[in-house]
Amino acid sequence: MKEREIIKIAVIGGGAAGLTAAIKCAEKFGGRNVIILERQMNIGRKLLSTGNGRCNISNKNISPEHYHGDKNIINSVLSDFSYKASKKFFADMGLLFRQDSEGRAYPYSNQSAAVLECMLSRLNCLGVKRSCSFKINSIVKNKNHFEIYAENVTICAEYLIFSCGSAAYPSLGANTSGFELLENLGIPKPKLFPALSPIETKEKYSILKGIRAKGTVSLYADNKPVTVKEGEIQFSDKRLSGICVFDISRTVNEYMVYKKANNIKLCIDLMPEYTESDLWIYMKKCKTLFSNDKTSSLLTGALNKKLARAVAAYAGIQDKLCKTLSGNDMKDLINAVKAFTFMPVYSDNFNSAQVCAGGYDSDTIDPETLMSRKINNLFVCGEMLDADGECGGYNLHFAFGSAMKPAKYIK
Ligand SMILES: Cc1cc2nc3c(=O)[nH]c(=O)nc-3n(C[C@H](O)[C@H](O)[C@H](O)COP(=O)(O)OP(=O)(O)OC[C@H]3O[C@@H](n4cnc5c(N)ncnc54)[C@H](O)[C@@H]3O)c2cc1C
Repeated sequence: MKEREIIKIAVIGGGAAGLTAAIKCAEKFGGRNVIILERQMNIGRKLLSTGNGRCNISNKNISPEHYHGDKNIINSVLSDFSYKASKKFFADMGLLFRQDSEGRAYPYSNQSAAVLECMLSRLNCLGVKRSCSFKINSIVKNKNHFEIYAENVTICAEYLIFSCGSAAYPSLGANTSGFELLENLGIPKPKLFPALSPIETKEKYSILKGIRAKGTVSLYADNKPVTVKEGEIQFSDKRLSGICVFDISRTVNEYMVYKKANNIKLCIDLMPEYTESDLWIYMKKCKTLFSNDKTSSLLTGALNKKLARAVAAYAGIQDKLCKTLSGNDMKDLINAVKAFTFMPVYSDNFNSAQVCAGGYDSDTIDPETLMSRKINNLFVCGEMLDADGECGGYNLHFAFGSAMKPAKYIK
């Protein structure tokens, strides 16, 4: 016979958002009124892997401009949950922050495990129940409550909080089962696409594998500039990565899939501090200095040797000697340095994406309460919502902040 449990609030998904939602609800209604239902064997698996095990938990510069997605939801969450509020939320659990020079906040111990342990310990103190390896088959909404059907148990809950995350990084157990449960309840699945991911390219430069360079990456679509990011670019034979590439990846995917733009390209400026005329003067000097060497030598004093060779190949003059370069050759080389161009290839797999863009927007979810517009007493928080931030602690901050909402509005 199936066991039947009755509870006030069921939190579906025990990640960053779910743990926060459970803590806030338990503080208001008592732990015995809250249960966390986690599909995986352990709670907080993704949280443990964040920031390379250091967990970039928040950022001093939190503001909507660091996010993409539904502005109503983003503004509503961030206006309730500032960086200061995040510091206090964690300090109340005994967790201190350490901030780096760019405003990124980490747990003082630099260990993501510390974040999870403080949250679990708070949940234990509050007496919140947790059920792991909990595989939900279906959910039915009755007049006054939800019935959650799993293999050996049915749970009746007055309120549901969905915090199932997204399919980003499936090697950490992520999938879209939360969206499918909501779809069965009549809430259509939103568009979802990878963000904060490396970008695959049509061009293949085996020579560039493992090379890193500082520069700017500009995205062009339909022959117009879209956005520019600056930072370290990491090259692989057929992919670009690095924080600035991660930050631009969601816009690349959006233009490729949803805006159906043409002629999408990424132009890398490998020497952004130098104008074209600066480079002209510099290269003219190097042409004399390296007159009997191959073209890439013109860039010996400026770029990584392999990168210089790839740039010279891109300009189509790699086999010439410096002394034979014409004015047009020099111009082509300068263009190659200032706009080393790659064509992105869309990949809809989430394998290396840190987050998922898209999600439920304010047509589906009320931005103030984060309750479904269609189904009363059903809340959604965390990465399931249409909000994705840049690298730097913005995504976890949003997950924690959005999860403050249900407790505020549940009666
Ligand atoms: C490798 C990596 C590093 C990252 N580093 C950072 C970082 O340093 N800083 C930062 O801000 N962001 C980082 N992120 C992003 C950040 O981890 C996410 O934005 C954040 O975890 C989202 O929180 P969430 O609670 O919505 O989802 P999750 O943390 O993914 O939690 C969702 C939980 O729900 C469970 N679940 C799913 N479906 C069901 C179901 N049907 N029933 C029950 N349970 C279910 C999952 O198993 C999971 O435990 C990183 C992401 C990755 C992949």
